[in-house]
This record gives sequence, C-alpha cells and structure tokens, in this order.
Amino acid sequence: MTKSFFGIVGLGVMGSNLALNVLDRGHSLSVYNRGGEGEAHLLPTFMESVGSAHKVSGFDDLKEFIASLERPKKVLLMIKAGPAVDAVIQSLMLLLEEGDIIIDGGNSLYTDTVRREEYCKNKGVHFVGMGVSGGAEGARRGPSIMVGGSTQSYESIGALLESIAAKDKFKGSCCAHVGIGGAGHFVKMIHNGIEYAEMQLIAEVYDLLKMEYTYEEIADILEEWQGGELSSFLLGCSVDILRHRTGDSFTLDLILDKAGNKGTGGWSSKAALDLGIAAPMMSAAVFARYQSSLKSERISLAQQVTQFANSDSLSLSDLKEAYKASRIINHHQGFAVIKAASDTYDWNINLSELARIWTNGCILRSELTADLVELFKTNDSILATGSYVDEVDSTVDQLVEVISHGMNNRIPLPCFQAAQSSWYSATTERLPANMIQAQRDYFGSHTYRRVDKAESEVYHTEWKK
Ligand code: NDP
Repeated sequence: MTKSFFGIVGLGVMGSNLALNVLDRGHSLSVYNRGGEGEAHLLPTFMESVGSAHKVSGFDDLKEFIASLERPKKVLLMIKAGPAVDAVIQSLMLLLEEGDIIIDGGNSLYTDTVRREEYCKNKGVHFVGMGVSGGAEGARRGPSIMVGGSTQSYESIGALLESIAAKDKFKGSCCAHVGIGGAGHFVKMIHNGIEYAEMQLIAEVYDLLKMEYTYEEIADILEEWQGGELSSFLLGCSVDILRHRTGDSFTLDLILDKAGNKGTGGWSSKAALDLGIAAPMMSAAVFARYQSSLKSERISLAQQVTQFANSDSLSLSDLKEAYKASRIINHHQGFAVIKAASDTYDWNINLSELARIWTNGCILRSELTADLVELFKTNDSILATGSYVDEVDSTVDQLVEVISHGMNNRIPLPCFQAAQSSWYSATTERLPANMIQAQRDYFGSHTYRRVDKAESEVYHTEWKK
C-alpha cells in the first residue's frame, strides 16, 4: 500500500475541513477518528464527503493509521484541547519512532505545549504546538497558521502547511514558523485575546446605536465603515448578523444575551498579568462575557436600580473615531504581550511576519493588521511611531464623548472605557503611583524610590509619628 505523506487525528469541525483542504492541495493523506467512545459517524461521514479523485485512507484503528504514514510520520491532532491531547499523545508515543512529528493544531494552552514538547523530546519525537485561526471556513479554504516547535520540524511540515494556508495580498502564505517551543500556541492565544476585545467593541457600538437606529440602519452605518480603514472580518460578520432575520424577527433579537467562552481570552489576560503587561481591554472583554452570563442576577438587580436614558443623540463621527482609536489601543496591548513573551522566552518572534499572517485567513484579519506589517518592520511597538500616537491623540476627545454618552444613557461600555483609561495612563507623565508606593511602605515596609535620588536607591519612612 502506498503510504500517506500526512496524517490527521480528529475529524470534527476543524479536522475534517483541514483534511479536505490538504487533499485539495494534492497531498496524500490518512485520517483517523476514534471509534468506540467517540462519535462513530465522523469517519464514515468524512470518507463519504471526499471525492474519488483524492488520495485518502481512513482509519478508526490508531495502529493501522500510523502504519499507513511514510517516515518521518507527521501527525496533526485536531482534537478537543486538554486531557484528550495528553491521552492521544500517550497512545501515539507507543507507535511513533525517533524523528516523527506530532503537531497539535487545537487551542492548547502554551504551557501545556512546552510540557508536551519536553515529554516527546525524551523519546526523540518532535512536538509542534500550532495555532490555527479562521474557523470552519478558514480551515476549508485557507486558515492563518501560527507554527511553534523546532526549526527542524518546520522543515518537514512547513511546505504542506504553507500550501493549505490563506494567502496575503502578495500571494505569500499566511503560515509561518513564529518561534520555537510554545510560541505558536502563545500567539494564537493572544490573537484570541485581541479578538475578544474587538468583538466586545463591536457589541458596544451596537448597544450605543440601537437606542437611535434600526438594525438595518446600524448595518448600513457599519457597512460604510467597512469600506475604509476600519474594514475587518469581524465588522463584516456583524453587518450580516444585523441584517439576518428568522421569520418576522431579527435573529439577533432571538439570541439569549449570555456570552460563552472557551477560555482563551482568560488565558490571554492571565498571560498578560504573568508577564506584567497592561492589557486591560482583553480582560475587560473577558469580564464582560462573565457578567453577561449572570442573567437571572441581572434581571433581579435591574428591577431594584434606577433605569434611565437621556435623549441626547450620539454623533456617528464621534463613534467612528472612538472605535478606530480603541482598536489601535487594543492591538497595541495585544502585541505588547506577545513582545514581552518573546523576550522572556527567547522566542524571537518577528512581529511584522506575525501581522502579515494575520492579514488573511484568521478572525483578526483587517486593514489595521495589514498596516501593522510595515510598522513592525522597523518598530517593536505600535506606539513607537508618532503616527498611531497622533491618531489616537487626535480622536481621544471623541472617545470621551462616546463614553460620556454611554454613561448618560446607562449603557455599560467596559471595553471603550478600558481603552480610554489605559490610554490616559499610558500617556500621563506623573501617575498617582507615588501614593501606592507610600501605602505599600506604610503597611509593609516595601520601600520606595525617590524622584530626587538615583533609582537604584531605596527608601523607607516611619510614617506614624
Ligand atoms: P469538534 O468538537 O468539532 O471535534 C473534536 C474532535 O476531537 C473530534 O474529532 C473528537 O472525536 C475528538 N476527540 C475529543 N475527545 C477525544 C479523545 N479523548 N480522544 C480522541 N479524540 C477525541 O472540535 P473542533 O474541530 O471545533 O476543534 C478541534 C480543536 O481545534 C480544538 O482544540 C479547538 O479549540 C480548536 N479550534 C477550533 C476552531 C473552531 O472554529 N471550531 C478554530 C480554531 C481552533 P470524537 O467525536 O470521536 O470524540
């Protein structure tokens, strides 16, 4: 039997679509989905969906699946993140040999990836943590692929992965080896963290506009934004969502206002905290989802407090500028977390290359990510060039106006507010952190540094007379 070049474990939404994509690019493929405890229909359903022209072998026996692959064996796991990944790796380790490669394309936590790479390395098996973005459609037509792991493994799998990824505007592949170790999963995690805030900002825009405009009118407004520098995949989705009807109702009105999450936003916020980087927009978006899920508590409290709305009208140009500024701040914070991780873990992540592979295929794709490709060629921070500082600075009044309109009308704006206050903090020469330092020294003798002395010197005061 001719052996396959590549193997995929897991034929759920992502695995089956990636498999069809791999086949479309002319690679020979073996696929596996567990029978028994798993969903037995996944393998036959997939095999039926593949045309006869394709070279695919399907298995529900792991040993036969691995035997069907050519050496080095390259096995992509597209399975539920968490313990399932450890369980499958353990089974694979009994079947793989030195030089073979396991690729985890799920949304695994990057620290798990680092641990799994160490575990596999002991047996000479390469382990690659790989972020995939773009959902089912991206997986089928071309996702954005963020590859971690060793350079050596990328040499074996890079060409195939680059062939299935989306293309940037110069026809380059939206797939790259972003760094060793857990770098691939780390950047995918922060991609999702930025995405949480991008989604929340659009939700807040919708909340602000729905007081004065119909859904069709809001869709028209966002569509007009979509035609210019604010264009993004998520804004485009939101226009379609606003126009969608189920029977006589707008579908949006039928959806329960409890936002779910699969954890990557929380992980991103935690990573920012661990690295000591301020990323309040992504954490505001995570907390907004958590608060939304307290529906019955919200209903009860809503009846106990004063509800109010003023009749002042919202300026559309203020809202557009506020949204623009907040997106810049959000991307700045996300990339700052990635830069800090890259420095801390010696990943040497090329931020321009990362922005480039986020210009297509992924959920974050936008005019802004395209602009950042050039910026990061010569800078390692969005705020390192005057242009984005000027852009936010010249629109911050409008951001304040929008927030003030929201507050006057009792509309919660956690992400817009996080953008505004973190911008003020980032651009204020003297913050009240001197008071924090004094308090720390007062009750904990934590010492402080003085403005009139060398920063290397520390001081303590006996505060109580
Ligand atoms: P699905 O739920 O559609 O599929 C999950 C797959 O995992 C199935 O093939 C399932 O097989 C398999 N699986 C679950 N538990 C086990 C186990 N213990 N042993 C072996 N196989 C198991 O998930 P998706 O395809 O949506 O997601 C796969 C991964 O990709 C996840 O990590 C997800 O976070 C990530 N991802 C998802 C995206 C999306 O838009 N859906 C986007 C980017 C990444 P069985 O049915 O037989 O249990």
